[in-house]
Amino acid sequence: MKKKKLITSALPYVNNIPHLGNLIQVLSADVFARFCRVKGYETLYVCGTDEYGTATETRALEEGVTPEELCDHYYKIHTEIYEWFNINFDKWGRTSTPEQTEIVQHIFHKCDEAGLIREDTINQLFCESCDRFLADRYVLGECPFCGSENARGDQCEDCGKLLDPTELVNPRCSTCGKEPVGRDTKHLYLDLPKVLPKLLEWMDTASVDGFWARNAIQMTKSWIRDGLKERCITRDLKWGIPVPKEGFEGKVFYVWFDAPIGYISITMTHTDKWEDWWRNPEEVELFQFIGKDNIPFHTVIFPSSLLGTGEKWTMLHHMSSTEYLNYEDGKFSKSKGIGVFGTDARDTGIPSDVWRFYIFYNRPEKSDYQFSWKDFQEKANSELLGNLGNLVNRTLIFVNKFYDGKIPEAADDSAMIDKIREYEAKITEHLEKAQLRDALRKILFLSSFGNKVFQEGEPWKTRNTEPASAAILIKHLVYLVRDLAIMIEPFIPDTCAKITSFLGNPEMGWEKLGEFDGIDKIGESEILFKKLEDDFISGLRDKFAGSQAERAAKEASEGKVTENTPERKSENKVEEKSLEEQFVEKVDLRVAKITAIERHPEADKLYIETIDVGEEEPRQIVSGLVPYYKEEELLNRNIILVYNLKPAKLRGVKSQGMLLAADNTPEGSEERCDVEVIFADWAEPGARINLPGNPVPEGDSPKKLKVNHFFNIPLKTEGNIVKVGETALEVSGKTLKTTIVTEGDVG
Ligand SMILES: [Zn+2]
Ligand SMILES: [Zn+2]
Repeated sequence: MKKKKLITSALPYVNNIPHLGNLIQVLSADVFARFCRVKGYETLYVCGTDEYGTATETRALEEGVTPEELCDHYYKIHTEIYEWFNINFDKWGRTSTPEQTEIVQHIFHKCDEAGLIREDTINQLFCESCDRFLADRYVLGECPFCGSENARGDQCEDCGKLLDPTELVNPRCSTCGKEPVGRDTKHLYLDLPKVLPKLLEWMDTASVDGFWARNAIQMTKSWIRDGLKERCITRDLKWGIPVPKEGFEGKVFYVWFDAPIGYISITMTHTDKWEDWWRNPEEVELFQFIGKDNIPFHTVIFPSSLLGTGEKWTMLHHMSSTEYLNYEDGKFSKSKGIGVFGTDARDTGIPSDVWRFYIFYNRPEKSDYQFSWKDFQEKANSELLGNLGNLVNRTLIFVNKFYDGKIPEAADDSAMIDKIREYEAKITEHLEKAQLRDALRKILFLSSFGNKVFQEGEPWKTRNTEPASAAILIKHLVYLVRDLAIMIEPFIPDTCAKITSFLGNPEMGWEKLGEFDGIDKIGESEILFKKLEDDFISGLRDKFAGSQAERAAKEASEGKVTENTPERKSENKVEEKSLEEQFVEKVDLRVAKITAIERHPEADKLYIETIDVGEEEPRQIVSGLVPYYKEEELLNRNIILVYNLKPAKLRGVKSQGMLLAADNTPEGSEERCDVEVIFADWAEPGARINLPGNPVPEGDSPKKLKVNHFFNIPLKTEGNIVKVGETALEVSGKTLKTTIVTEGDVG
């Protein structure tokens, strides 16, 4: 019996723009769903945005919008990106629906009836001014281990130690800055150990029947081996599904409990017959596409919630879990804005099929994979244009030119047919098992086999010398082109549609593969793929270098603001502050007088300067200015100090800040050209540098800043004026200027 295919991809968290690394899941499930449909399976592919939880609620609070408004904003952006990538969902939904509430509460009730829900009271930090409990990472404070002032309640980023928020010294609310207080609060726990025997029994068969990936089995086993604990499934939040139990009013379900149930509720919003899919294990196979970080939620927690109900559910059959796709030399990062985002891919003008091709060609199935522009260019040019495009083009042009577009009458070449059918069988087998990368590579291999046969058969000669053999070759190549188009459809659907139209729109079902009839006359063809040229690609590499914030700054400084898409703009509005706003919030620059200067005993290029910043005690800084300035050129001059920089040691000497200098060294060059210290002799030591139009927030100096965070907010000179973003820096009524370095970076 042919089983129905129920397909899901990990629900993207709503409040961010997906990058290529995130898109893999949605795209992979799309390929598999397209394959299942064309193969003749009854198929349902559902996905949607995961909307509840602390992250959304906190973000909305910070933006001054409601969580619903925030979700609506991002849902639209997600929708547009997936449309552009040609994702053919049967249902693209979201989790903030009445259906979600209904089914989550139902599953909870059933688990509760089965005695799997327990109660416990914990002490948690509560912000009285925000009137809410604070999730661990929204409590900030001093790290008890390293003294960092900005440790988060779950982890200190400076020393890496995992923390409990109650361990923080001087804890404060990340939203309002007030000190939170400890409060007792009751929570509910899902008793995973009690479900474990059922889970193990299910998993033993499911992992074999569903040929789970090795990483999925390993990770699940290690989770279970490390001991399953009771898991808290409730939160003190407003933005979520209410917990339907006496004594728990005002609490909601924790997002990991409700999010996977979203697959079911999204199906409920699609069809009344959702139980034909989700309560029908005899007839339905569930395929789930996820990243490796999500494995335990799909192999342990979600199945345990379903098993715990004691009801009949369609359980996970095959889990297709991928490793990470990394960007150039680092990780894609949503929070840092590094990498190529869905909106960026569209803005390049490169067709979505080319992106799809590259993602599947390198789908990180067994190990991490690195996205690089050079590799992208090479693979697109060699495989799409040089291999597949070339075969389609040369074959169809030949038929049009020498056979008047008619497929020549010819005998069958059984050796060639066998070979093609053998490949097609393997490709089908890969696709049945959702081995997308292997399938795509074999398809391209078959295409290159076609090119080889064309080349060796020399039809341009044999057409005259042995017309019968030329006709045989061309007939088979035309059908090979059709077969390739059928098999490539799940991967690059637009290209399939074009080839189909070149062939005069013949039938294109999977059952046609390997049958050498059905086409009479073909139409005109055209070039399928454009070459990706070197300067175009290197332009893109430059454009996408650095983080989104840096790119936005660069575009702004180049006057390219109009190129921003509306999405990018609105994204910036919600996500990113202008450089000027970031500057006044994070950076404190002050005038300082150099009162003493000496050479560093252990380093040729370093001076040690004693400076007066208008404080009781002088400070000491270290700077690499020996090659550019003599001592007397600096002594008694007023320089600009990065006042709130984290102290550092340079060659054993403590440096409490950094002075600003401009330089015009081209990027990547070893030699420095001109280096010019920025002076402000007119101002008093201690005077704070300001940005007209961007008032400094009231209160103390901003937090201590790490040097790399300082450089995230680039300063520059433009026409001898020192600027951040588009605004000139001023102190005591005068603009900071340079005389030598007209255009350059300041740091
Ligand atoms: Zn620490
Ligand atoms: Zn607060």
